[in-house]
Amino acid sequence: MGRYLGPKCKLCRREGEKLFLKGARCYSKKCSLERKNYPPGQKSKRYRSRQSDYALHLREKQKTKRMYGLLEKQFKNFFKKAEDLPGVTGENLLGLLETRLDNIIYRMGYAPSRNAARHLVNHGHVFVDGKKVDIPSYVVSENQTVEISKKSRQIPMIQEAMEAHKSLDQFSWLEIQPDEFKGTIKSLPTEEQLPQDIDVRLIVEFYSK
Ligand code: SF4
Repeated sequence: MGRYLGPKCKLCRREGEKLFLKGARCYSKKCSLERKNYPPGQKSKRYRSRQSDYALHLREKQKTKRMYGLLEKQFKNFFKKAEDLPGVTGENLLGLLETRLDNIIYRMGYAPSRNAARHLVNHGHVFVDGKKVDIPSYVVSENQTVEISKKSRQIPMIQEAMEAHKSLDQFSWLEIQPDEFKGTIKSLPTEEQLPQDIDVRLIVEFYSK
C-alpha cells in the first residue's frame, strides 16, 4: 500500500499544526514548526491568510489524513466504512482511525510515531489476541489485546519509545501493561479524549458537498 515519502515537517507547516510525524524530535526544540510556523514556500507567517469555508473543510480533512499517515484513497475508504456503520459517521470515522493497529501501537507508546508503528506491524513484531497480524490498517476491536512479540521486545526503538511515553499524557480508553509489552482497548475514544484537535464534523461536511 502506498504512502507519502516526502518531507514530513512540511506537512505540519502546511497545516500550521504539529502532526507528530517524527517521534522524539516533535517534542524537542528541533521541531521545524517551532522555528518556521508558516507554510512551506512562503517567507514569513504574515503570509498565512484567512481561509475560505471550502479551504477550512479541506484543511481539516488533509490534516487528519496526514496525521494518520494515509493517502487520499485510503482515507476515503475509511470514510465510506464509517458511513456504512450504524451511528454517527464522524464518531465512526474517528473510532476506525484510532483503532487501526498502527495507531494503537503508537498510542500505547511502543513506537515513537505512527510511521514507525507501521514498520513494526509490517515486519511481524505485533500480535493481536495471540496471533501475528502484519496489516497496519487492521482495525482492533474493544477488549482485544495487542502485544509486542517476545523476540522483538529488546529492539532499541521500542525501548526508547516506551521510555519517552512515560512523560506523555496517558489515554483513559486504553489499558496499557508496559511490563508485559501489551495493552487492551477499553472503549472507543471520543473527540475530547484525543490530544490533538480533530473537528470530524468538518470532514463529514467536506465529503458530503
Ligand atoms: Fe511536525 Fe514533528 Fe516535524 Fe515538528 S518535528 S514539524 S511536529 S513532524
